[in-house]
Amino acid sequence: MRRKLVVGNWKLHGSRATNAALLSGLAAGRPYACEMAVCVPFPYLHDVADAWRGSELMWGAQDCSAHEQGAYTGEVAAAMLSEFGCRYAIVGHSERRQFHHESDQLVADKAKAALAKGVTPIVCVGESLAQREAGATEEVVKRQLSAVIHTLGHCAGEMVVAYEPVWAIGTGRTASPEQAQAVHALLRAQLQAASGHAERIRILYGGSVKPDNAQALFAQPDIDGGLIGGASLNADHFIAICRAAG
Ligand code: PEP
Repeated sequence: MRRKLVVGNWKLHGSRATNAALLSGLAAGRPYACEMAVCVPFPYLHDVADAWRGSELMWGAQDCSAHEQGAYTGEVAAAMLSEFGCRYAIVGHSERRQFHHESDQLVADKAKAALAKGVTPIVCVGESLAQREAGATEEVVKRQLSAVIHTLGHCAGEMVVAYEPVWAIGTGRTASPEQAQAVHALLRAQLQAASGHAERIRILYGGSVKPDNAQALFAQPDIDGGLIGGASLNADHFIAICRAAG
């Protein structure tokens, strides 16, 4: 039985003052039946750790370098994330694939670097609107996931996968529960064929999840929770989404 996981992706939002209110609001909403985590901009990791240390609430980063150390200006290594108590690191978010030209192999290398330091990668895959309309959804998400499966090898069962159709991110346009479930089932079958451990791998859905659509999405058999952007910046909305997860 997979426990539901709901992860907030703050993206490039926040300030120390607004974060403090958000973090204490989320802590006040405990207990949660699901696992809850927030992935925050790097400079705020210390504050989240201070606020939530010792609780069951978890936190993480929105990226992770593929390198362990060296002359890579601007990069942040998995060992550094681990020092700040990060449980998770998002890798391969579509905004990084798009704006930072991250390839499938770079995303896979980042996932491997994270796992090597005990940080669970949340590997994002998803098709653009043009790809969906061209009937290429399956081919695209399988290609993206395949690179990670092959790079992680026998550790593939340790990752979390997030299916995030690019056309649904930040647009207010959500995949229907049936559309999302169909892709999640494909991804689980691919994970099963490759690792044999698909039953324990959590596959999150992301893309305009809100309090009013979360329950129907999370009720699908292969949707194990959500990766939440905009709605994770509002404590009441994020709490409502976590409650919808059970
Ligand atoms: C995201 O950033 O991963 C995301 C799903 O954003 P939103 O919920 O705002 O669509």
